[in-house]
Amino acid sequence: MTDDDSNTSTDGGDSSAVPDDSDVGTSTTEESRVSTDDSASTGTDASESTDAATDEGEVQTSESEKTAPDDGDSPPEAEGSSLSGGVDAGVDTDTQGRSVDGFSGGVDLEDLDLDDADDEEADEASRGLFDDLLEGEPIFENKEVLRPSYTPRKLPHREEQINNMATILVTALRGETPSNILIYGKTGTGKTASAKFVSEELETTSEKYEVPCEVEYINCEVTDTQYRVLAQLANKFIEKNEAYIERRLDELDDLRDDAAADPAVLDDTEFDSVAAVETRIRDLEDDLEEFEPVPMTGWPTDRVYSTFFDAVDYHERVVVIMLDEIDKLVEKSGDDTLYNLSRMNSELENSRVSIMGISNDLKFTDFLDPRVKSSLGEEEIVFPPYDATQLRDILQHRSEISFKPDTLSDDVIPLCAAFAAQEHGDARRALDLLRTAGELAERDRTETVEEKHVRHAQEKIELDRVVEVVRTLPTQSKLVLYATILLEENGVHNINTGEVFNIYKRLCQEIDADVLTQRRVTDLISELDMLGIVNAVVVSKGRYGRTKEISLSVPLDETEAVLLSDSRVGEVEEAQPFVQARFDN
Ligand code: ADP
Ligand code: MG
Repeated sequence: MTDDDSNTSTDGGDSSAVPDDSDVGTSTTEESRVSTDDSASTGTDASESTDAATDEGEVQTSESEKTAPDDGDSPPEAEGSSLSGGVDAGVDTDTQGRSVDGFSGGVDLEDLDLDDADDEEADEASRGLFDDLLEGEPIFENKEVLRPSYTPRKLPHREEQINNMATILVTALRGETPSNILIYGKTGTGKTASAKFVSEELETTSEKYEVPCEVEYINCEVTDTQYRVLAQLANKFIEKNEAYIERRLDELDDLRDDAAADPAVLDDTEFDSVAAVETRIRDLEDDLEEFEPVPMTGWPTDRVYSTFFDAVDYHERVVVIMLDEIDKLVEKSGDDTLYNLSRMNSELENSRVSIMGISNDLKFTDFLDPRVKSSLGEEEIVFPPYDATQLRDILQHRSEISFKPDTLSDDVIPLCAAFAAQEHGDARRALDLLRTAGELAERDRTETVEEKHVRHAQEKIELDRVVEVVRTLPTQSKLVLYATILLEENGVHNINTGEVFNIYKRLCQEIDADVLTQRRVTDLISELDMLGIVNAVVVSKGRYGRTKEISLSVPLDETEAVLLSDSRVGEVEEAQPFVQARFDN
């Protein structure tokens, strides 16, 4: 799951109540570890089990893309369809053919079956809890629609990009190889949503005209090594080949039976006798036997590659491979995968491959081998950031299906759009804001979402981000940050690097940590600046040279609390006295 949902979710109960695909993946992997030969995506060793579980989730996710263009943890059309993500044992989900997550506005009170008359005592505590939360008319009609995993059917302000993609890919429907495409744009500019939309249309049309064309989507943030990418692709194509053979066998079985009764039916086929049909049937059955799925670890890469290659080349078709977050793959594992994929066409006999790379990083091709770069970038499509007006349209569309009528006051959507426009025109952020504002209003038990809920949501999302960033800092950076906080707490203004360094040193001594040089500490301060946690400006001190003046850019109390929850930093006790000592000197 690549969704940054967890970072921004403001509703703790929400994320734990909703089992997502990675959970499913984990349990499947548990099982499959026992019988590694059973399915395409099994075969893990203990050290890889977590990663493999993630991959597994990805495999399952992408599989459902054939029918459901979707990031993974919720269905494409949440309305009226079953929300697989939200099933919760205590809730009767069948009545409407759709499930609900425990707290979402999608709950229809009449359809909830929370009663269990025989078990009153056990129910007492939980009933109070749920009654409270369910009180009042819910604001949401369908909250899932606001989550990043939902793929909208309409993508306003992306018509041009979508048309460009279609114009390039339509070649596939003529049985020829489309140019490779590279898509660029910052996060939240609709790249994934547009690509999935186009791929779904492409597959539907290819079915309609019976042109063999297949699209495979891989998220390289999850599947981030050459081995995994190739293994996942190999296994996908093996599955497709198996399905293809099964279909073929059905046809041939019928043909054989018909031909046995009346040999004339063979006249306009490639077979001249019933025996020839039978031979083909046996051949296909042998092929079916021979497919060997790639385990998630353990094979040499060239074997994985040739398995993938053979699987793709098994029969005639055009294959479009979408590599989303391709910059993450290159960053982590270099460009070998892209090199191998981009030179495949010269060796394939039956099929053709076209690659569509999607990148958040505009400069990632700088790191590519020039051959890969020119091959991959045959066509380039840029996704510019949305402006506030465009974000408004996007939110307007989604709010109509996600909120109950008349629950949004007039300024809510413009404000969400304005905040997100500041955040490099990120539609994901805009949708997060709107959803969070709705959740806050729901918790306030108000009937409408107001401007204040949006402002509150903005703070909350920002704070969640800060907490996450601070929590995952390395210990040394945490100590540097804590030193800055202690100085601010003691009313020091215009904090300079030397002062931070002195307090930092004492903190290190206090908890027995290595003391870095002042130069390194200065670097760490710059990093904190880049993360938006502190603000460090260089000031000239005349002939005494230059120094940095540092101030905190994040809420002090919350940040300090996060720092002290670190087991190492938390060892610092009574930090106050030695900060004081500094002033006494
Ligand atoms: P990216 O892949 O560029 O980071 P996504 O495609 O994941 O961005 O979009 C982020 C979120 O914004 C998704 O929930 C997506 O559905 C939504 N979104 C982006 N662009 C549009 C659009 N033009 N219309 C409707 N929703 C959009
Ligand atoms: Mg994306």
